[in-house]
Amino acid sequence: MSHESGSEAPVLAKQRKAARYSREQDRFEVFSVRATMQAEHGARVVEFDGGSWSCTCDFFRHHATCSHVMALESILLDQAKMRLAQRVDT
Ligand SMILES: [Zn+2]
Repeated sequence: MSHESGSEAPVLAKQRKAARYSREQDRFEVFSVRATMQAEHGARVVEFDGGSWSCTCDFFRHHATCSHVMALESILLDQAKMRLAQRVDT
């Protein structure tokens, strides 16, 4: 296993770099996320784009937030430690 082929070595180097980047997650800023979510009353589409959230559920339409948005935001911010960023290329 000590002999790496010429084609594998560059990929291994990138894997090592990726492992480091994955521990330095504040390097990343999330500009856009689109997800489906299986809620208790059916599928919802939850989206983060250009600095604001949206969801297809009725509660979001009236309150501008909902449990689906809160859950996905929590997953992104608390677990990934990523920053949700305003779009800068507009
Ligand atoms: Zn919702």
